[in-house]
Amino acid sequence: MSNPLLIGKGLPQFDQIKPEHVSPAIDTLLTEGRALIEQLATKQASPSWENFALPLENHSEKLGRSWGPVGHMNAVVNTPELREAYNENLSKLSAYYSDLSQDERLYQKFKQIQNSDDFTSLTATQQKIINNEVRDFKLGGAELPEDKKARYKAISQELSKLCSQFSDNVLDATNDFSHLVTEEAVLSGLPEDAIQAAKAAAKESDQVGWLFTLHFPSYLPVMQYADNQALRETMYRAYSTRASEFGKPELDNTPLIAEILKLRGEEAQLLDFANYAEASLATKMADTPKQVTDFLATLAQRAKPFAEQDMADLKAYAKTLGFDTLNAWDISYVSEKLRQEKYAFSDQEVKQYFPEDKVKSGLFKVVETIFGVQIDLAEAPIWHDNASFYQISNAQGQAVAYFYFDLYARKGKRGGAWMDECITRRKTPQGVELPVAYLTCNFSAPIGDKPALFTHDEVETLFHEFGHGLHHMLTQVDEYSVSGIKGVEWDAVELPSQFMENFCWEWEVLKNMTSHVDTGEPLPRALFDKMLAAKNYQAGMQTVRQIEFSLFDIRLHSEFDPNGSKTTQDVIEQVRKEVAVSIPPTWNRFANSFGHIFSGGYAAGYYSYKWAEVLSADAYSLFEEMGVLSQEAGTRFKTEVLEQGGSRPAMESFVAFRGREPSMDALLRHHGMTDSAM
Ligand SMILES: [Zn+2]
Repeated sequence: MSNPLLIGKGLPQFDQIKPEHVSPAIDTLLTEGRALIEQLATKQASPSWENFALPLENHSEKLGRSWGPVGHMNAVVNTPELREAYNENLSKLSAYYSDLSQDERLYQKFKQIQNSDDFTSLTATQQKIINNEVRDFKLGGAELPEDKKARYKAISQELSKLCSQFSDNVLDATNDFSHLVTEEAVLSGLPEDAIQAAKAAAKESDQVGWLFTLHFPSYLPVMQYADNQALRETMYRAYSTRASEFGKPELDNTPLIAEILKLRGEEAQLLDFANYAEASLATKMADTPKQVTDFLATLAQRAKPFAEQDMADLKAYAKTLGFDTLNAWDISYVSEKLRQEKYAFSDQEVKQYFPEDKVKSGLFKVVETIFGVQIDLAEAPIWHDNASFYQISNAQGQAVAYFYFDLYARKGKRGGAWMDECITRRKTPQGVELPVAYLTCNFSAPIGDKPALFTHDEVETLFHEFGHGLHHMLTQVDEYSVSGIKGVEWDAVELPSQFMENFCWEWEVLKNMTSHVDTGEPLPRALFDKMLAAKNYQAGMQTVRQIEFSLFDIRLHSEFDPNGSKTTQDVIEQVRKEVAVSIPPTWNRFANSFGHIFSGGYAAGYYSYKWAEVLSADAYSLFEEMGVLSQEAGTRFKTEVLEQGGSRPAMESFVAFRGREPSMDALLRHHGMTDSAM
């Protein structure tokens, strides 16, 4: 066997994997998988965990083990050859998984196991996997009679078409608008790089002057910095009416929104849910739309006084700048001015205190202290010189997990930061297979003989991703499909990651993980206090804005009747009346470009941003009570949350850890929204 993607055990051989290995490996494994499915679906008369579910699990693992490194290398050391191999096999894999999830013969067997006498003798984890399978097949329409099944399939196809058209329209409408400035005076206030970019854009389209577009890097600086109010208004108007009836009719998303909501409602009803939100919540931590709306209403009630205060501060400050009224296109501009005046600090200055080694050892120290583990550099084949490999050991010095770090931006590497699974923990007849994680970031590489320096945002990102990594690496689950982050509810996945971010705002932690690159001095306390104040700047306004979007989303998908007399615009206006502190102009068509819920995966799920923040802040508050580096609190978090992975409902894990259901007090306090702060 010479294909490194087919070794099937141990760490990936990154130094040997070549694009030409991909297709033969994936073809082999897919052929094997299809044969296995045929055999299990037709020959297995009395399916059990051992003879049916486990072979499927084993094959998923094998496929993941082979495909994982390909996906990883495609993201971090991309070449045209690898990309071609990746894309070609990606479509084969999606076809395979789609067939697998539609195979009703398999569904029947899973149900047979669920209903068998032996079911209760399975471990709780095995039962959870079987229950998840049955649930997911049902949500895919497996339970429907033939005629309804056909309708379900037609709806799914139509929806995916409409949703992708929605995002195409937003993109086209965004591209369709540009605004040429020909007088230099109009550019007043804009940063030099924004001006240069606008000049280059004009030149590129054979025009003379400065060309502004609705793409964020062009749009945002105008809204934040342009002194010229008319310029801001022009840009704001164009931006907030994208893909609406005010633009090209063929790019208008209004009819698409109505159609998407109608079809989602019909799809949910076919599956016996009262509305789409209920169907969406079937795989989430929140149980009912009412639970979500109550959560949002309570949060709104508590945050609104602070949002009102933020708005009052902003208006008072705006007066000093000569604004008698604050228009929608003035808010970012005045906010930025106020932020500069009250809270500005230089990222460059802060960065000098966060050299890479100090940050990494600070992160490791937190993890080692609270979770009772040890992290050491180790050896493994890697894909690039910048990558490194580490071992995590328990208190007895035994290895429990491994991870790769690949922290610097470079050519051929996808932007952003993420954690990905390399190997998932599970028990096999040969013993326990240890989990391995990829932790990838895009920070600035070292320049010259200076170490890499990270901004505080980057440090926070590193802690965030490491939190996802710990969820994957410290799991003690024995079965593949719910081990680590696998099978964790979608609105609970960010709990460990956002939890870890808190340590970056803890003076006790920061003072020991900072050291000025030239002087070796720790971060000055006064600078830290300024950073903290800046973090909470307009927290009230930002919170109610997120609530506005969340409430709009959940109401559209639960209470709104697309065939009734009200429009979606009525819904958002009602929501704004209830929670917003700044009401945009009536011609604002926010919904028409709200891609998260009309073309992304966030339909009836936008609330999860705030939901996960509440969970993570409340989890962290136990550390505030017991001591920031409390090993007792850490052990509880490790055993009840991190180790459990997807083997039980996230709410159960949370309650086991915290001793009660989540409370939003800690989140509000962390953002300075407590009565004493008023
Ligand atoms: Zn995350």
